[in-house]
Amino acid sequence: MRSATVGKIVFACLLVTVLLFSTVHGNAQSVAANGQTRKYVIFRDDDVAPRTKFAELQAVNQVHIDKNVPVTLGIVAHQNASAGNQLLQDAQFLDYMRSIASNHLFEFAQHGYTHQSVTMVSPSEFYGRPYAVQYDTIKKGRDDIKQAFGVVPTTFIPPFDKSDNNTLKAAKALGFTDYSTAYRDFNIQQGQSQGIKVEAASLELSNKSLASLKNETEQFLNNPHSVDAFVVLYHPSDFSGPNGTVNSQRVKLLADYIDYLKGTGRVQFTTFNRSLTTESPVRSSGVASPSETNASAYVEGDILTGNGLTSGFSTILIFACFALVVVGFVFLVGRSSSKR
Ligand SMILES: [Zn+2]
Repeated sequence: MRSATVGKIVFACLLVTVLLFSTVHGNAQSVAANGQTRKYVIFRDDDVAPRTKFAELQAVNQVHIDKNVPVTLGIVAHQNASAGNQLLQDAQFLDYMRSIASNHLFEFAQHGYTHQSVTMVSPSEFYGRPYAVQYDTIKKGRDDIKQAFGVVPTTFIPPFDKSDNNTLKAAKALGFTDYSTAYRDFNIQQGQSQGIKVEAASLELSNKSLASLKNETEQFLNNPHSVDAFVVLYHPSDFSGPNGTVNSQRVKLLADYIDYLKGTGRVQFTTFNRSLTTESPVRSSGVASPSETNASAYVEGDILTGNGLTSGFSTILIFACFALVVVGFVFLVGRSSSKR
């Protein structure tokens, strides 16, 4: 009779524990979902360089200005072996880039140095080279960008999306805080490695249709396990028409894709360094929104802090439940043995 009572009470305690555990777990999930209703979309424009695809670069950047959507420009500092800072040698490019350098819609990032492949394994400017060589090469490109535009880049993008741990270490040592490459480089979609934040490309524009872009984006947005940033990669050459013209249909496609993204009400736009974040109202009709939040309004740790608090809270509750069971058990066993 007495042991049956003890059994019932222990069972009740366990039941309460299980119920509390599942409730807490459910709360943690819904809080995380609420905290991340808007995923980040980062546009990454690779191969921004003097003497190439200038009209395309301007046309695409104008879309970003018209739509109030930021973009990270991956700048190639030194395409060929000729001497001097080549960023200074194309006056049209130099003047234009200087004119947008202070516009927070544009993050100036470094996309390698020469963008020439030096390895035999697969195209890469850095992969497999000694640390000292990689460090020196990245430093030269960074110094060129600083000299030309007065901007010290904090995001590094290895050419051909191919690099190794020494590239990460060298970039970190040179003060870069953000890094974007292919997922396969480090098996990281979004995370830290060698003390630097890595965010891999999620989607490549190339010559895809709007329907295809929408489809890939929907998959990302509807996947509960998605990371918080969707990196859309394109090149100025993706917008080239025949005979050196700009392909206006492709430029329009980018504008339409941005309108679609705004229309979902589920994204906000930013750059790798998060210096500017813009978004449209939840019930957007696809019209470009003037609303924006600046760097001071954006706190990178917000979501992490929210999750941290939630998981901390659930840990305490779970611990309390287990403690309750243990105390109840010890109390009952102690009582039954004292009566024996
Ligand atoms: Zn490139």
